[in-house]
Amino acid sequence: MKVVKFGGSSLASGEQLKKVLNIVVSDPTRKVVVVSAPGKRYSDDIKVTDLLIECAEKYLANENAEGVFQTIIERYASIVKELSIPLDIVETISKDLKALLAGDKSKPESYLDAVKASGEDNNAKLIAAFFRHSGLNAEYVNPKDAGLLVSDEPGNAQVLPESYENLFKLREKEGIVVFPGFFGYNKKGEVLTFSRSGSDITGSILANGIKADLYENFTDVDAVYSVNPTFVQNPKEISELTYREMRELSYAGFSVFHDEALIPAFRAGIPVNVKNTNNPSAPGTRIVNERSNSNGPVIGIASDKGFCSIYVSKYLMNREIGFGRKLLQILEDYGLTYEHVPSGIDDVTVILRQDQMDEALEAQIKDRIMTELHADEVIIEHDLVLIMVVGEGMRHNVGTTARAAKALAHADVNIEMINQGSSEVSMMFGVKEPQEKSAVQALYNEFFVAVPV
Ligand code: ASP
Repeated sequence: MKVVKFGGSSLASGEQLKKVLNIVVSDPTRKVVVVSAPGKRYSDDIKVTDLLIECAEKYLANENAEGVFQTIIERYASIVKELSIPLDIVETISKDLKALLAGDKSKPESYLDAVKASGEDNNAKLIAAFFRHSGLNAEYVNPKDAGLLVSDEPGNAQVLPESYENLFKLREKEGIVVFPGFFGYNKKGEVLTFSRSGSDITGSILANGIKADLYENFTDVDAVYSVNPTFVQNPKEISELTYREMRELSYAGFSVFHDEALIPAFRAGIPVNVKNTNNPSAPGTRIVNERSNSNGPVIGIASDKGFCSIYVSKYLMNREIGFGRKLLQILEDYGLTYEHVPSGIDDVTVILRQDQMDEALEAQIKDRIMTELHADEVIIEHDLVLIMVVGEGMRHNVGTTARAAKALAHADVNIEMINQGSSEVSMMFGVKEPQEKSAVQALYNEFFVAVPV
C-alpha cells in the first residue's frame, strides 16, 4: 500500500489533474492520495494558499476582499471547467468559503488557519469528485473524521501521537482515499495548520499511520539534485539518499522537501520516493534508512543565507561553570532560537537566523553579555551563509574536510567558521554572502567533478 502526495504545482490546472489521475490509476497500490491546494501554473502565478492568506487578512482588517475572493473562486472554477465536471462544486466552495470568512475573528491566528486550510480541503473535495467522475472509486476523507489530531499551535501544529492509531483505520476503506494536506484538528475540534508546505507532513503522517510500504511525493522535478541548479549547470541527480542526509540538506535550503516532513515516515522506516508528476516514469530520488556508500563521501551540497553570528570571547571561559547556559539564557529571554554553537577554549560563537533581531535588540544583547557575563569581547557579524556538505560516506573517508577547505582556499573563499563533528554526516562552513556562489561551485567541483588524486 502506498501513500501518494501531490504538491501544488501538480494540481494547479485541469491538465495537471489529468496527469495525477493517470498516475493514480496506473498503480492499484496507490491507496491514499494527499493533496495540496492549487499552486502556481507559471512562475509569476500566485498560490491559492497565498491568496487565501491575503483574503483573510483583508477580512481581519475590515478591508474590501471581493477581488481576491473572486480570484480564488476563479482558480477552482477554471480547473472544474477544464475537467468538465459539474459546476455545482464551485458553488459549494464559494458558499463554504464565504461562511468561513464571515466566522469568528476573536482569535485572528485561528481564523487565519481555518481559512488557509480551506485551500487543501476544497481541492481534496474537487479532486475526489473528478476521480469519481472518471470512474474511480474515490472518497474525500476529512482529517477530523480520520482522527488526525494536532497540537494547539496555529501555523505550526505538531501531530499528536494518538493520530497514528486512528489513521490506521483508513486501510479498511474500499476505494481510494483523497485526503487534504496541511492541517489537522485539535482536541476541541478546531482546525490548525502545519507550517508552510505542510502537506508533505500530512503525507508522511499518513504513510506512518497506515503503515504504507512507500511514500511517494510527487513534485515538479525529476529528482533531488546534488546542488542548487542555479549555482551549477546540470548538477548530478541523487538516486538514493538517507533520511539523515535529506534532513541536513533540506535544513540548509534544499527546498524539494519540507525538512520536518520526513520524521513520521522515518520513524516507521517507510522509504520515500520523490517523483515528477510531469515525468512519472523517471525513477526519482529514494530516501531510505540506509544506503550503500559506494559513491564517495559527499552526496549533496546545500547553502542557506540570512544568518548572523554572536562571537563571545572571555579569557578562561573553559573553567567557568555555567557560562554557556547563561549565554543561551540571555537569548532565551528574548525568545530567540539559535542554530549552532561552535566553541573554542576561550570563545564561543552562536549562530542565529538574523531576521529574528533588529539593531536595538542586538545592542541590548551585546550589552547584557558584556555586563552580566563579564565577557572580554562581543562581536555580531551579519550576512553569513551556511554551506552544508553532506554525505554518510564521510564517516569512513579520511580527509574530506581537508579537501573541502582546500577547494575553498583555491577559490579564494574566506571561511568564517567551520563546524564539523557533531553530525557524522555533514560539515558546515560559514562564509560571507557574496562568496556563496563561488564557494558552492568550488565544493561541487571538488566532490563531483574533479577526480581526486
Ligand atoms: N498549500 C500550503 C502552502 O502553500 C501547503 C502545501 O502546499 O504543502 O504552504
